[in-house]
Amino acid sequence: MPRLAMTMLLTFALCATATADSSRRVSPCPVEGDFQALPSGIDVDSANRVWCRMKQQVHAPLGLAPPPVFVGALPSNKYSAFVFPTPEAPDDLLSIEIASTTMQYEDPLFVLWALGHELAHSLFTLRPFGFETQDTYPASLPNVQHCDPEFQRVTKGAADVLWDIYHSSDQRLKMVSLEKDTHGRECAYSSNLNRLQEGRKATY
Ligand SMILES: [Zn+2]
Repeated sequence: MPRLAMTMLLTFALCATATADSSRRVSPCPVEGDFQALPSGIDVDSANRVWCRMKQQVHAPLGLAPPPVFVGALPSNKYSAFVFPTPEAPDDLLSIEIASTTMQYEDPLFVLWALGHELAHSLFTLRPFGFETQDTYPASLPNVQHCDPEFQRVTKGAADVLWDIYHSSDQRLKMVSLEKDTHGRECAYSSNLNRLQEGRKATY
């Protein structure tokens, strides 16, 4: 083959690769704010799409890196947990734990949603501090967040992103109903408690 034709072929191959690479990255979030790695079984691209959407929703810096994610043993009623340093436990690392049983028995899509829920906790915990890392955070924050309509909107947004990617209606139903059931009860309880406390001590 003439040398020129070979060169042209090679150039075409390189262009095709470059186009494929740039079309794969359509995220408005910079790479340094993405997950670079996740425990096996969690799809990194999907997790990054959820994380990027959430950062946009709460006006966090788009380059904000996500907390590290670990798989470990959690109480049997917990799918996942948001861990962070508090005045009582200042050495805890701001991180997310997914229960090994969740990884083992739940649909990978549900695992992504659980991860999204905990990512929302991390953003809502950092936001009062302008998304700057602190030595410790108030221990009560995550429980208050469950009852915040904005938090509920952001976690539902995670379900929407995952729906866009996977179109799994049964997993979406599970995500949405779990959010409503567990937190609905919890928030009803805490608002009743608030009313009782306000009744007892009006200035509380
Ligand atoms: Zn939660």
